[in-house]
Amino acid sequence: DCNFKMLLIDLDGFKDINDSFGHLAGDKILCSIAKRIEDTIPENAFCARLGGDEFAVLMGVQNEMLKPEDLASELIEVINLPVPYEGHEISVGASIGISLTYQETQSCEEFQQQADLALYHAKQTGRGVCETYNPSLTEAFEEKRQAFELVKEAIHEGRLLPHYQPIFDLSSQRIKGVEALARIQNKDGSIVGPAKFWHALFEPKSALAVDETILDIALRDFAEWKSKGLDIDFISINASSLCIQSMDYVERVLEALAHNNLQPHHLKIEVVENIFLDDADSKITHVLERLSEAGVIIALDDFGTGYASLSHLRDYPVNCIKIDQSFVSGLGESAGNTAIVQALVSLGKSLNLDIIAEGIETQGQLDFMSAVGCTFGQGYLFSKPISAQQLFDYLSSRPMEQLRQASLQKLIRTL
Ligand code: C2E
Ligand code: MG
Ligand code: MG
Repeated sequence: DCNFKMLLIDLDGFKDINDSFGHLAGDKILCSIAKRIEDTIPENAFCARLGGDEFAVLMGVQNEMLKPEDLASELIEVINLPVPYEGHEISVGASIGISLTYQETQSCEEFQQQADLALYHAKQTGRGVCETYNPSLTEAFEEKRQAFELVKEAIHEGRLLPHYQPIFDLSSQRIKGVEALARIQNKDGSIVGPAKFWHALFEPKSALAVDETILDIALRDFAEWKSKGLDIDFISINASSLCIQSMDYVERVLEALAHNNLQPHHLKIEVVENIFLDDADSKITHVLERLSEAGVIIALDDFGTGYASLSHLRDYPVNCIKIDQSFVSGLGESAGNTAIVQALVSLGKSLNLDIIAEGIETQGQLDFMSAVGCTFGQGYLFSKPISAQQLFDYLSSRPMEQLRQASLQKLIRTL
């Protein structure tokens, strides 16, 4: 049975307090919080500050009756009460990870690691959350760690590179642009997509590394195609919110364009609509506004699946919407779905936005999208994402006029 319980407490956003009120304020708050933790835990429990803004509470058999989750909620509540400091009322949140020893044989290190993992998980879930360790957390962590490793090694060895999916003008059936999609070439030559390294797109360091690598290679490839006379209007890249919020993103993008002798309108940046959800300080909006003012095209990816309100289309610097593939694939399945697609297209048109239909796989879907006036489309019907070389070879081997979907499909089949 369970004889020890550990609660690992980490304050939320403590760095911001140090930054905005100074270290003296930070120290004072740490002292008040330490006192509150001591006053809240049972008498025979043990409390320590591990360093920085981390505290640990250890409970033994004597506290059998007290559920660690209940104590954790109480702690989160008392820590959250404002601390008066020089006329200010400063509030700090806390996240808590809990581990329980089920066997005496379990090592101390493992005991603490499990609390750490639970805390890490709590922090990822949101602020002010408490999480209790269970073995699936180890599995999830291991999966993430593997995704980071895969990406890190691939970037280091030049094996992370974009594949390109052509985007067609639906009325002329000509290629207008291409979307760069991250791929990793494994050592055995096989190619894997983001599904194999999904977690890495949501962790600050690796997300940034992926997006920057793809931006650099995609612009270089695009510039090369242009210099060799290919007639393509734009290259599209996907940017995570972590990347957009990173330091000097605007400068980085504009520099990369200039370095490759490209114009801002050659670049389209795709962001998912949920990006605006956690933009309370308008940082993301501001970055996208600056890029848009410079002439870069901003597209809302997977449109219709997130929580964006229609007012985002009016208020944010968006020039293009990409109708999510789930709507396109569901065409004809229900009247409601068909009506939504129709409404999205006419809304986009009346707001003067470019509209791209994603995931067109059948002639029927293509016909429908064309009929409702959707301007652009991409999908397996035209082409899967292909390597830079494959795209170049194909585009340069025949005049653009002949680029009908049938022939491109033939190419894809032979690849
Ligand atoms: P997305 O930007 O919405 O990209 C479209 C996805 O749909 C791609 O998957 C593409 O291969 C796939 N697709 C295209 N046509 C069809 C079709 O006709 N049918 C079906 N079923 N699927 C189609 P992929 O390459 O696996 O990428 C998945 C997602 O990963 C992307 O969704 C994007 O959100 C993200 N992603 C890809 N590359 C990057 C990158 O460089 N940076 C970031 N931050 N995210 C990326
Ligand atoms: Mg995209
Ligand atoms: Mg999409």
